[in-house]
Amino acid sequence: MKVFYSDTYEVPLPDGHRFPMGKYKKLRERLIKDRVIDAEFIEADICQIEDLLLAHDHEYIHQVLSLTLERKLARAVGLPLTPEMVIRARASMQSFLNATFTALEEGVSSSLAGGTHHAHKDGGEGFCFFNDFAVATRKIHSIDPYKKILILDLDVHQGNGNSSILNQDKNVFIISFHGETNYPYRKVESHIDIGFSKNTKDDEYLQKLKEVLTEISGHELLLYQAGVDSLVHDRFGSLDLSYEGLLERDRLVFEFVKSQGISMAMALGGGYTDPVDLSVEAYVNTYKTLNDVFFK
Ligand SMILES: [Zn+2]
Repeated sequence: MKVFYSDTYEVPLPDGHRFPMGKYKKLRERLIKDRVIDAEFIEADICQIEDLLLAHDHEYIHQVLSLTLERKLARAVGLPLTPEMVIRARASMQSFLNATFTALEEGVSSSLAGGTHHAHKDGGEGFCFFNDFAVATRKIHSIDPYKKILILDLDVHQGNGNSSILNQDKNVFIISFHGETNYPYRKVESHIDIGFSKNTKDDEYLQKLKEVLTEISGHELLLYQAGVDSLVHDRFGSLDLSYEGLLERDRLVFEFVKSQGISMAMALGGGYTDPVDLSVEAYVNTYKTLNDVFFK
């Protein structure tokens, strides 16, 4: 399996910043050191501007790339806009594009970044400058408009950017499971939105996931946003899933992919425990489960 990464573009953040920049590299080192999965780890280059244009306004892209983003738009993203940050955002984008096109050829691939589901056409928010699932979907459809793409977003925050960009596109079906009381406070309608109340635990969540997956068929590629911020320890998530619950969540998703005979590209999504190692542990479990389902 090929796993793409972009953590070499790590960007120093001000002390006490809420974004866990270090988790990406930590996770990659853990996956390699503990031989969690027999994968080839490939560093991603930065993405092309033409690709960004598939899902974003020219003016917005220009403002980000030239570091001239209006203050209000910059504040919504919540990350300092610096040359390093722009490179990182573009590398993270390319990492997911590589995973997507590799998945179409080889069945399964992933990016150790991304899942930037809060970015809209004309502005980013929630730590997301550009929307990788939207760009990947549009790029595939620019080659094959009939490719049936399923987006499954299990990050605790609703995928408002995925929906605002893609929910009128043909041959895309978007599912979001999220904490109803979590950011974004104004959700954007997906094809299926499941908003859970505060402190929802494993049983209810997993039961719902089983129900939804049973009803879904006919897609060719899954883009899976595997955020682990629904973990009970997470600082930003309102749900109370356990490690075992998340593990079972991933197993259900991977078994679904296998039984449907479809391809899958996976992105990391959110994980904001303090210390961040607790989130990294959950991501490691995701890769262990992936290995168990697909490669054993
Ligand atoms: Zn999230």
